Amino acid sequence: MQAEDEVVWVCQYCGIHNTVDVDFTVSGKLDFIEDCRICCRPNRIIITIDPDENIFVEARYIDE
Ligand SMILES: [Zn+2]
Repeated sequence: MQAEDEVVWVCQYCGIHNTVDVDFTVSGKLDFIEDCRICCRPNRIIITIDPDENIFVEARYIDE
């Protein structure tokens, strides 16, 4: 089983799809800031990993 997976998130500013590598050996919640590769604006990325290693990705404006 690989320890990292690539997840897709959608920039809240320009709508473009970005990818980020996530270490999902830790179950629970990851919360971090990523810059969009197109418009370079920071998005808040929230990734939730359940015990069955299903990954849920959510992107938000950082000022919310
Ligand atoms: Zn963008």
